[in-house]
Amino acid sequence: MHLLSGPNSCLLCGASSQGTLTLCKPCQTELPSIQAACIRCALALGPEAAEQQLCGQCCVDPPPFEHCYPLGDYGFPLREMIARLKFHGRFSIGRALGQLLAQRLAPIFSAEPPDALLPVPLHSGRLRQRGFNQSLEIAQQLSQHLGTPIAPHYCKRLRASKPQRGLSAAARKQNVQGIFRLEPKAMKSTPRHIVIVDDVVTTMATVQAIAYLLKKEGVERVDVACLARVS
Ligand SMILES: [Zn+2]
Ligand SMILES: [Zn+2]
Repeated sequence: MHLLSGPNSCLLCGASSQGTLTLCKPCQTELPSIQAACIRCALALGPEAAEQQLCGQCCVDPPPFEHCYPLGDYGFPLREMIARLKFHGRFSIGRALGQLLAQRLAPIFSAEPPDALLPVPLHSGRLRQRGFNQSLEIAQQLSQHLGTPIAPHYCKRLRASKPQRGLSAAARKQNVQGIFRLEPKAMKSTPRHIVIVDDVVTTMATVQAIAYLLKKEGVERVDVACLARVS
């Protein structure tokens, strides 16, 4: 028997799960996937939407990133699993979901490998309280499986943002204005292609604010990878 792998029990149903991934095959296939979505920001467009379509927002005002790649929609069981990772420190969940996301990203990034992964930074106060940054946990899994280095100090969060829910698009932009700063000295040179890593992408305002800074710094291509996209 292998020392590190071997049978584990599935995080969702408790069935024994072979290999290192602690999520059994049936549960993996039941994770909510986004069927028809905006090719740019991954917003669900409904079953009637044609393939290769942009959402209204991306048509009018395209985001400063190329593509958002979520593992799935923010519904059962992803929502519950992410909450267990975030609020109860269940790192086994972060590992399993991070691996699944890496599997999804591997064929996408094989042609154009990114130079670095940029986990969305937590505010220092929140980091002290929680003890870990869930985006960094996910980025570590991606890094391990994709071979892309993490740039943990490239982006700094200067203050915490207020909750984004219930705010208008303009107010959300305002809410994240000036809360991030890039530290170019943390990098040897300006990366060409960066992937921002977040746990849940809700309003896009946060990842857009970081992508905007990266583009201004001269990064050519920015993508976003996340566990779940709220539609
Ligand atoms: Zn299962
Ligand atoms: Zn869109």
